[in-house]
Amino acid sequence: MHPIIIIGSGLAGYTLAREFRKLDKETAVTLITADDGTSYSKPMLSNALSNQKNAASLAMANAEKMANDLRLKILTNTSVIKINPEINTIKTDQGNLEYSQLVFATGARPIKIPFAGNGARDILSINNLDDYRIFREKLANIKRVAILGPGLIGCEFANDLIGSGYEVSVIGPDKFPLQQMLPMEAGRALQNALTKLGVDWHLETLTNDISSDGSAYTLTFEGGKSITVDLVLSAVGLKPDTKLAAATDITVNRGIVVNRYLQTSVQNIFALGDCMEVEELVLPFVMPIMFCARALASTLAGTQVQVSFPAMPVVVKTPSHPIISCPPHPRHEDQWQLTIDADKKGVKACYYDKQKLLLGFTLTGDKISEKQSLTKLLPSYLD
Ligand SMILES: Cc1cc2nc3c(=O)[nH]c(=O)nc-3n(C[C@H](O)[C@H](O)[C@H](O)COP(=O)(O)OP(=O)(O)OC[C@H]3O[C@@H](n4cnc5c(N)ncnc54)[C@H](O)[C@@H]3O)c2cc1C
Repeated sequence: MHPIIIIGSGLAGYTLAREFRKLDKETAVTLITADDGTSYSKPMLSNALSNQKNAASLAMANAEKMANDLRLKILTNTSVIKINPEINTIKTDQGNLEYSQLVFATGARPIKIPFAGNGARDILSINNLDDYRIFREKLANIKRVAILGPGLIGCEFANDLIGSGYEVSVIGPDKFPLQQMLPMEAGRALQNALTKLGVDWHLETLTNDISSDGSAYTLTFEGGKSITVDLVLSAVGLKPDTKLAAATDITVNRGIVVNRYLQTSVQNIFALGDCMEVEELVLPFVMPIMFCARALASTLAGTQVQVSFPAMPVVVKTPSHPIISCPPHPRHEDQWQLTIDADKKGVKACYYDKQKLLLGFTLTGDKISEKQSLTKLLPSYLD
């Protein structure tokens, strides 16, 4: 019998392996990863400075320990470059392997905007431990950081950096921070809190050019205004990694399309995590990975289980003004009515349907204390 092969050693790959081992101690599982297989918590990358953690202390276990603990064979620094589903084989840059069932846990890649200017090539994106190691090395001798993208990850890094003594500018076309995720009042509450700490905002602003003189970077905005910083961080978003799946003729849309059994359009090939799309949803967060890993582990172990999601609030790690967001499912988009209760303590925004049933919420500041009571009232995200 050929092994189950999992591609990727992020949270999705390792959580699936762990859940599978709870159900099946014997079946061979090989995990292939393009990186060194270190297990770490990716969400901690954007608040590691204030938690006095560096890349080394964020590492929870190396590949050898993970292989022993979960009884896996792990091939590190190995990229899967081709899949032949007709004969159940994959080609890696280290050789070929056969699989019984194959799982994509290949994550998402940072979107790279092709800025003009000789400094554009030095822009950093932080999406794994190696990126973080480089980021910390660069931070050692500098003061001023520009963050492109006022979304969740950009704002978390802004809070972490400003709280650690750096000068921070945040730039983006959005009207207010976390515009994709929060109502305006909540985004503005965060903006005000970070402004008080010294964050310099350039919202509704497009960057035209990033030039370097060898030590500093000048960002020139549409309209001519410019700022000069020592490091440019990009947090403009992530895109599911679908290249290999698409080359295998697996259906991809925004992510690798799977059904509720996490099965792709090709037999014996599954996907979960940031690379995946289920029922038109791409959910690049930890909680969906946990539910998918449990369902898929059971299916791979022989008992088919469909994934379902409860309401899954997302905690935004901005201690200067904490936020918890649980937006309604997009299928309710035409029907929701938003009520906002905002005061000095924070913002409570609730989305209701026409029958006054709660569909989602955003809480900020002191109002996050209502998280549990509101979450209990929410419908499942995916039944
Ligand atoms: C800075 C930051 C903060 C975050 N904070 C939060 C938070 O607070 N809460 C929350 O819920 N979510 C948060 N997230 C999102 C969450 O961390 C991700 O949803 C999750 O870690 C994704 O895990 P993954 O395993 O799907 O992908 P990844 O961790 O990206 O893993 C992908 C793996 O696939 C491997 N790979 C890819 N292609 C190949 C190939 N061809 N061959 C071999 N291996 C391959 C890679 O080497 C890697 O091991 C955050 C994300 C970031 C970047």
